Amino acid sequence: MTGKAKPKKHTAKEIAAKVDAATTNRGGGKAGLKDRSGLEKGGHAKYECPHCKVTAPDIKTMQIHHDSKHPKIPYEEDKIVNLHATLAADTSKSRPGVRGSLKK
Ligand SMILES: [Zn+2]
Repeated sequence: MTGKAKPKKHTAKEIAAKVDAATTNRGGGKAGLKDRSGLEKGGHAKYECPHCKVTAPDIKTMQIHHDSKHPKIPYEEDKIVNLHATLAADTSKSRPGVRGSLKK
């Protein structure tokens, strides 16, 4: 027996420092930044139903909405209001009569 079972003593201050190091993320918190800024997700609906002004984030959702709410009206993608395109289309108004040119 050479007295190996010497209990290690930690002061409260040491333990507190270890706990702090283990639980505090010092990486700067950038992980949620994109999420918070909303740049990635856009946040708002893109398409608007021409019949009832309901909005949907994508054309597929709009089609589903149309099928369920307006089954008697033929679904025409041209008539779906693309809110984003409306905002951006002003620069290309020199091309009248172009139909079915919705960006996929
Ligand atoms: Zn609708």
